[in-house]
Amino acid sequence: MTSGSWEQFAGNLAFVTLAVAMWAHFSTWYQKSLIGLGRPLWGIIAGITSVGSMMLAIQFASGIYIDLRFAPLALAGLFGGAIAAAIAAIPAIVFRGTAGGAGAFDGVVAILVISAIGAVGHFAFRRKTADIYKLAAVTTGLGLGLSIMLVTLPSLTKSGAASAFGGPLVLMNCLATIVCGLIMLKTARLKLERQVLETAFSQSPDYLYVKDRDSRFIAVNNNMARLFHFSSPAEMFGLSDFSLRTAPDAEDLYHREQEIIRTGKPLVDFLERMGDRHLLASKVPLRDSEGQIIGLAGVTRDITERVDLERELREKRNLLTLAMNGMSEGFAMFDKKGFLIFCNEQYRDAFPLSRDARVIGAHITKILQRIIEAGERIGLPEETPEKWIEAAAATLHMNKDEEIQLKNGDWRALKTRLAHDGTAMVVVSDITVTKQAEAALQLSAQQLRSLADTDGLTSLANRRAFDAAFAHEAEKCRETDIPLSVLMIDVDRFKLYNDTYGHLAGDECLRAVGNCLGKSVKRSTDIVARYGGEEFVVLLPNTDETGAMAVAEEFRRLLSQKNLPHATSEFGRVTASIGISSTEGGVSQSDAQRLLAAADAALYAAKEQGRNQIKVQSPTDQISAARAG
Ligand code: GH3
Ligand code: MG
Ligand code: MG
Repeated sequence: MTSGSWEQFAGNLAFVTLAVAMWAHFSTWYQKSLIGLGRPLWGIIAGITSVGSMMLAIQFASGIYIDLRFAPLALAGLFGGAIAAAIAAIPAIVFRGTAGGAGAFDGVVAILVISAIGAVGHFAFRRKTADIYKLAAVTTGLGLGLSIMLVTLPSLTKSGAASAFGGPLVLMNCLATIVCGLIMLKTARLKLERQVLETAFSQSPDYLYVKDRDSRFIAVNNNMARLFHFSSPAEMFGLSDFSLRTAPDAEDLYHREQEIIRTGKPLVDFLERMGDRHLLASKVPLRDSEGQIIGLAGVTRDITERVDLERELREKRNLLTLAMNGMSEGFAMFDKKGFLIFCNEQYRDAFPLSRDARVIGAHITKILQRIIEAGERIGLPEETPEKWIEAAAATLHMNKDEEIQLKNGDWRALKTRLAHDGTAMVVVSDITVTKQAEAALQLSAQQLRSLADTDGLTSLANRRAFDAAFAHEAEKCRETDIPLSVLMIDVDRFKLYNDTYGHLAGDECLRAVGNCLGKSVKRSTDIVARYGGEEFVVLLPNTDETGAMAVAEEFRRLLSQKNLPHATSEFGRVTASIGISSTEGGVSQSDAQRLLAAADAALYAAKEQGRNQIKVQSPTDQISAARAG
C-alpha cells in the first residue's frame, strides 16, 4: 500500500460517509412523505453508495479492486432488513459483474455474503438489544467475513491479497461501517424524539400554540386549528388573534402577550371566556439560546364542563340547604370521625342549652361536654361525666332511636342512621306534646283503674280489689309455708244506729270505722277492704294467728278510743265484732275459700256470744253452724 492509496481510501470513506449522512437527514425531514418507502429507498441509496465506492476503487492487481463497498451493504441490511439488503446488493452485483476481471466472481460472492451478514444483524437480536450492540456485532461479522473470504476465495488467495492489502481493506470497511452506523443511529434517535414531541404537540387535548414577538401564530396543534375551523394547523401560521376574534378581545389578548414578551413574566391559569366556553389559559415567554425573548408558547384548557359541573353542584347544595332549613325536624350530619359537618337551625334550636356548641366543625365530645356543663338533660350522671361522654360518643355511629327528656321537661326523639361512607345522620323531633299526652293518658288510666278498685264511701279497697288481692296472695302461699290471715269485721247494731242517727250519720260512722281499721294495719302488703254494707275485711299476708290477733286488738283499741256514741246499743258506743282465721301456708284453692268461710264463721260466733269481741277459727275446723243472714 502506498501513501497515495491511503489518500484514495480516505476519499472513498468521505464519499461513503457523506452519502449516508445525506440520506439520514433527508429521511428525517421527509419522514412523513416516506411512509412505507423508507426501507426500500434506503436499500437503493445504500446500493448506489456501494457502487460509488467501487467507482472510486483502487486497482490492486489486474482485475482486483479494493474499496469500501461492503460498509453500505452491511448497513443496508442492519437498518433496512432483508428487503433493503437485497435491493442494495443488486446494483453492487451488477456493477461488479460488468466491471469483470479476474476477481469478478469472488467480488460478487463477497457482496452477497456481507449483505447477508447485515440482514442477519437486523433479525438476530431481540428487540430490546441496544442498537449500538447490533452495530458492533455486524461490524465484527463484517470484519470476520472479509478476513475469511480473503484466505478462502480462489482469486484472492492466488493474488496474495490477504498479506498485501487484507489489513487495510478489513480495517477501513469496519471503520466506515461504524462511522456511518453511528450517523444512522444518531439521526434515528433525533427522528424519534422529534416524532414524540410532534405527536404530543399535535394530539394534545389542550389548545397549544407558539407565537412570534408580534403575537402571530408560528405553530398550533390540531385542536387549535379545529377550534377556529381551519382544516390544518398550517393554515393558521402567520395569523394573529385580530383575524380570529372580535376586536376588543383580540386587543386585550395582544396587550397581555406583549406584556409577557416585554417583562418575561409568564401568565399562569387566567380565566378566559370564548362564547359560552370557559377557558383556563397559561402563556410563557420563549427564549433563544442567548436568553432573548423570541416569542411565547401558550396552553389553553377548556374547563367548560368542570365549571358547569361545579355550578350544578352548587345549585344542588343550595337546594338541599333550602330543604333542610324548611323542614320542621332538626337535621345534623357527623362525619366518620365525629365532627359535625352539617346541621340546620332547627337542630340547634332543639337543644337551647347546648345550642352554641352545636356548630359546624365541632366534635361530638365537645357537644356532650356542653350538655353536661349545662345539665341540659334529665338523667345525666352526677359523677364521672367523662365516662358518660365517652360512652355516648362511642354510640354516635350506630343506627338507633332514642327519646330523651330535657331539664325543662321537653322531650326530643333522636333518630340516628348510618350512611355507607360512615356518616351519621341525626333527625331530631320535638315530641313534648306527644309525651305529655301519653303521660296524661297513663295517669287517667291509672286513676280509672284505682277508681274501679276503690270503695267510694270509705276510700278503702272494694270487694272486687280484695277478691283479686286475696286470689293473688293465696296463690303465693301455695306450696310454701308462708302464713296468711283474714279478719272479718262487722259493726254491731248498725241497723239501730241508722235508725237512731240517720243514714248520713251512718255513712260517717262507717268512714270512722274504716279509718280505725286502716290505722291498725302496719305493713304495706296488708289490705283493708269494705266487704259490703257495714262489713269489712282485712287480708294479712305473711301473718300468723298471733299477728292477726294483734291487729284485731289494735283495731278494737282505736275504735273504743274514738268513743263514737251509739245510744241504742247495749255498749252505749259504736263497737264491732271480729272473726279471724289463719293458715300456716300451703293454701290450696279450696283452702282459700275455707279460710274466708272460717273467718266468717268466727265472726258469727263473736256475734252469738255477745258482740264487741274477737273470735278465731282455724280453716281446718269443721264449720259448726250456718250463719244466719
Ligand atoms: P248486728 O250486726 O249487730 O247483728 O246488727 P246489725 O244491725 O248491724 O245487723 P244487720 O246486718 O242486719 O244490719 C246491717 C245494716 O247496716 C243494714 C243497713 O241499714 C245498714 N247498712 C248497710 N250498708 C250501709 C251503708 O252503706 N250506709 C248506712 N248508713 N247503713 C248501711
Ligand atoms: Mg251485717
Ligand atoms: Mg252489723
